[in-house]
Amino acid sequence: MMNSAAARREHLKTLYGEVRGCTRCPLHLTRTQAVFGAGNADAELMFIGEAPGASEDRLGLPFVGAAGKLLDRLLQEIELDRKDVWIGNVLRCRPPDNRDPQPREIEACQEYLFEQVRLIEPTVICTLGNFSTKLLRADTTGISRLHGREEVRVIGSRAVRLYPLYHPAAALYTPSMLETLRGDFHRIPELLSQGAPEQPRLAEDELPDLSEMELEDSDLADALTTGGRPEPAPQLGLF
Ligand code: URA
Repeated sequence: MMNSAAARREHLKTLYGEVRGCTRCPLHLTRTQAVFGAGNADAELMFIGEAPGASEDRLGLPFVGAAGKLLDRLLQEIELDRKDVWIGNVLRCRPPDNRDPQPREIEACQEYLFEQVRLIEPTVICTLGNFSTKLLRADTTGISRLHGREEVRVIGSRAVRLYPLYHPAAALYTPSMLETLRGDFHRIPELLSQGAPEQPRLAEDELPDLSEMELEDSDLADALTTGGRPEPAPQLGLF
């Protein structure tokens, strides 16, 4: 068994190849490109937002618009950087006109998120806003009741400290919400310092052995290899 950080990262790259070509829901027809998520493939801390907006769709990276700038600022306040964390979304493709994600789109896309959690093995997952909070808690309770309350949840096979936060886009226009978000955000280091919660025990034959799986996506392999030297594809720049 060798689920090393290197093996998990390779698998994340394979998944990235799959997501780039995904046609599981109609959003692939209107996207410029899928937004896989970005950051540290071995991050302790993950942020999960809602869906790419116009800037994200254009650049292929999550949270690069105004909400992303606020997220960067809040990260800086707790002495973290994008390269320390993983940032992703419930959906990997932009809904037209930034409308809300639809249930069938969430369902079609959720496996990618669960696979990212399995591969990155985070300690703390901050859900940003209602959609990611409801998805990862499998419950309809809204963010205004849940923000700032951490709980241990098992996501797939991984036990994490789930920590719902207001979505930065909502906080941008409501000063009182921004102060609440900031207060909640500043507790993240304390949660990280508690380390990973006890993990569920899986039977030996239930444990995936990533070292035996193979990279399949030849496009991705091409994108990563230029003149014999590995060169990250744009979205992989921060892996
Ligand atoms: N809002 C989100 O939920 N995700 C992004 O990537 C950008 C804005």
